[in-house]
Amino acid sequence: MANPLYDTLFAKHAGSDKPFLILADSQITYAEFLAMAAQTANALSQLGLAPGDRVAVQVVKSPQMLALYAACAQAGVIFLPLNTAYTANELAYFIENSGAKLVVCDGARLDEMQAIAAPLGATLRTLNADGTGSLSDLAAEQPTEFETVARDGEDLAAFLYTSGTTGRSKGAMLTQNNLLSNAQTLVKYWHFTGDDVLLHALPIFHTHGLFVATNIMLAVGGSMIFLPKFDLEAVIAHLPRATSMMGVPTFYTRLLGDGRFTGDLVSHFRLFISGSAPLLAETHVQFETRTGHRILERYGMTETNMNTSNPYKGDRRAGTVGLPLPDVELKITDPETGTTLPQGQIGIIEVRGPNVFKGYWQMPEKTAAELREDGFFITGDLAQMDADGYVTIVGRAKDLIISGGFNIYPKEIELVLDEQPGVLESAVIGVPHPDFGEGVVAVLVPQAGAELDLAAIETAAAQALAKFKLPKRYVVLGSLPRNTMGKVQKAALRSDYATSFS
Ligand code: ATP
Ligand code: MG
Repeated sequence: MANPLYDTLFAKHAGSDKPFLILADSQITYAEFLAMAAQTANALSQLGLAPGDRVAVQVVKSPQMLALYAACAQAGVIFLPLNTAYTANELAYFIENSGAKLVVCDGARLDEMQAIAAPLGATLRTLNADGTGSLSDLAAEQPTEFETVARDGEDLAAFLYTSGTTGRSKGAMLTQNNLLSNAQTLVKYWHFTGDDVLLHALPIFHTHGLFVATNIMLAVGGSMIFLPKFDLEAVIAHLPRATSMMGVPTFYTRLLGDGRFTGDLVSHFRLFISGSAPLLAETHVQFETRTGHRILERYGMTETNMNTSNPYKGDRRAGTVGLPLPDVELKITDPETGTTLPQGQIGIIEVRGPNVFKGYWQMPEKTAAELREDGFFITGDLAQMDADGYVTIVGRAKDLIISGGFNIYPKEIELVLDEQPGVLESAVIGVPHPDFGEGVVAVLVPQAGAELDLAAIETAAAQALAKFKLPKRYVVLGSLPRNTMGKVQKAALRSDYATSFS
């Protein structure tokens, strides 16, 4: 019986002695991983989970957590990984919203999770960072074969919650076909093969590390150097064994900040990919100067997996997210009317394709507001497309500043500020202003050891930008607030500086 996701990504590796996961001092072959997955799938059915049920998982990244993803695919259960940063109180929302039947948590959290899971009728099992726990104990008693549950490509495979950058996280319902179609497109677009060894330092509760990275490697039968997190020492130590890496921009800036990261260390490398947050053009240039490699930047999101990418062979343009992927239709529309704008104008990115999700779980109004009946998803990202089809993101619609009736795109101001002497990076936000509706606040982060000359920066900004765009307040911070995926938390900045003009 067919189960497209399991058959295509997992079952085809049956009996393979090739390493799938390379760990600090051991490795797990494909055959061993499939046995772990089958034992876990048996454990899921022992716990009473039926196809279509949800398993909420908040645990530290481990091979066992990945095996739980495989087990869910094999058993037709919906996998629902959650950010490890969420507190118990925050988790109550996700468990209740998803109606999860089983919750898998770290042993250290057992008591506080019990208090949340029990009233919601969810069963609780543990999985610790070292792979031990009550779920693993149950799995260890199970056979290493499991009869794969038949599924249709249109059946749901995962609920992935969005990062919550612009508001409350939403559970995106993703089908088997959503995941498979994107993985297959990316394998071809980025030229992945079974010879690839991917350095994997991303979390696996987010689409980047879970679906983009892992599904691609499963699709081609490559190996992953599976690190618990981005640790500079460990990454530098493992780079010589890897052929490719996927990272968020902060991975690349941190590597560039270390003198041991040289061109020689990665002269054998095939591909560096960046996404989840904007890569500064300057980082792209510095990276090429240091290593000779041009980072390939791509753009995607929880609801759609990947939508655009710079080309593998053609021109990788710094500061752009490249071209729409094959099978992804992309248009730039007027935020008010939804009509397609003439080429070159700034508008909202809308996408349609086999990668686009089925809607937000139990949020029919949100779904109706963001997913058009004709299948286009309104991403909420503002961008423009050049004559060659390259897309440049200028920010999120929710971060657009409207001051004195004029639209101000924060990115335009940030690019000017980033150029100023001593400025490492910046974030521009709009906060309430009694006369203008919103006033512009610029948050600046100095380079290590630099003193910023704010008067000189104001003068330079005034030369480069129209008056209505100029920041009315400058703030200097040691660093910008970011989440684990390197996304700047502008909502947090807006609330910190909300009373700037009142
Ligand atoms: P929420 O939807 O809950 O507000 P979120 O949009 O941050 O959170 P994700 O789905 O994790 O949650 O992130 C997708 C977003 O990340 C995109 O909509 C886009 O704004 C941003 N993004 C992803 N890749 C890039 C990139 N290469 N350049 C700029 N922004 C990117
Ligand atoms: Mg989003």
